[in-house]
Amino acid sequence: MTLNPTHDPARLSWLESAHAATTDFPLQNLPYGAFRRAVASPALLGVAIGDRILDLHAAAAAGLLPGTVAAACQQPTLNALMALGAPAWSALRARLSALLGADSCPAGALRDRVAACLVPMREVTMLLPAAIGDYTDFYASVFHATNVGAMFRPGQPLLPNYKWVPIGYHGRSSSIMVSGMLVRRPHGQTRAATEGSPAFGPSQSLDYELELGAFVGPGNQLGEPIPLASAADQLFGVVLLNDWSARDIQSWEYQPLGPFLAKNFATTISPWVVTLEALAPFRVPVFSRPAADPAPLPYLSDPGDATLGGLDLHLEAWLLTPRMRATGAPPHRLSAGNFQKMYWTLAQLLTHHASNGCNLRPGDLLGSGTVSGETKDSRGCLLELTARGTEPIHLPDGETRGFLQDGDEIILRGHAERAGARRIGLGECRGLVVPAAD
Ligand code: MN
Repeated sequence: MTLNPTHDPARLSWLESAHAATTDFPLQNLPYGAFRRAVASPALLGVAIGDRILDLHAAAAAGLLPGTVAAACQQPTLNALMALGAPAWSALRARLSALLGADSCPAGALRDRVAACLVPMREVTMLLPAAIGDYTDFYASVFHATNVGAMFRPGQPLLPNYKWVPIGYHGRSSSIMVSGMLVRRPHGQTRAATEGSPAFGPSQSLDYELELGAFVGPGNQLGEPIPLASAADQLFGVVLLNDWSARDIQSWEYQPLGPFLAKNFATTISPWVVTLEALAPFRVPVFSRPAADPAPLPYLSDPGDATLGGLDLHLEAWLLTPRMRATGAPPHRLSAGNFQKMYWTLAQLLTHHASNGCNLRPGDLLGSGTVSGETKDSRGCLLELTARGTEPIHLPDGETRGFLQDGDEIILRGHAERAGARRIGLGECRGLVVPAAD
């Protein structure tokens, strides 16, 4: 993907709050989301800019958007826009950048019409950005796979297929929720290593997983694979994703068919979908595999993907406990990693998913798998950070955590930053754990 004027770091919005050094949403980002202005009012699509949202429904109705995308911008979810494909996405981004740019939209009648479509972000409720038909979660960090494998299978941490095939499982879309929704501790069947029979009750090993989620664009017809060279045009954008996991349920149920009830009770995503076009300045070469590792098979090899398939995206997980909340203490950072360290690129995950002819549809969500690096402070879940709860984390206020307790809130954050580009962010993905049902 080539850079264009929408990426120019020198350009400013006429909206003051979009200039703040700390904002995730400067003129160069322009992420999409869905929101509601009041409890009973309709779902609308919008674009984040500074501390405002440009109401796309109102902008389309006012004739401010390209005719090719106007109808899609007046839907309650992003699915129709996702289905339109990369040229339409690019045309919309260019128009939004022009309408919100200080240089391109000087003070006057046009700017007034755009300003009339702005809504303060603090006044709205964010919704799921898309109707997610199918959700698949991968396992693309070799560091995560090795660390977790070492706990479950000390003799063989990394299974022989790992470096050949992107491992994934079909998740559950019905329990995907947007940032801010409460996460209820699940019940499940668990068996302690010292006991013969399992018991049913609330999970005692609730965990989070720091991941990136990618939304599928137009997709493919059943039976028609997506070549890796064209996979980039199939990726609409990314969100932060928390794959909540009950480790005690998982360790008892996962063989032989993989994750099931340990994962499908909740998945939280951030509300703003940052487009792959916005991330173009932060594309990097694919993770460099150790020389002894096999090269990807031909259908997972493409020179373009090798050169720019990686993403230099900094991702963090933070914890806010009830005591920290009560004392006004700030959240504590649990880990910080980079998406550049993933063994497989987003495009490889998508191409592999469709390689057997499986059809992907607009709004389908692909989870990357836990983003962990080689260092301990870059491990993206408590299972890894605490060695399955046996080495608890010590928090600044003296508390400890092996796994999550009721009232704990996990906050995921992410941003991209490099010389020659404007820093852009993903916003936040928050989820607060509430007690199991009676
Ligand atoms: Mn996961």
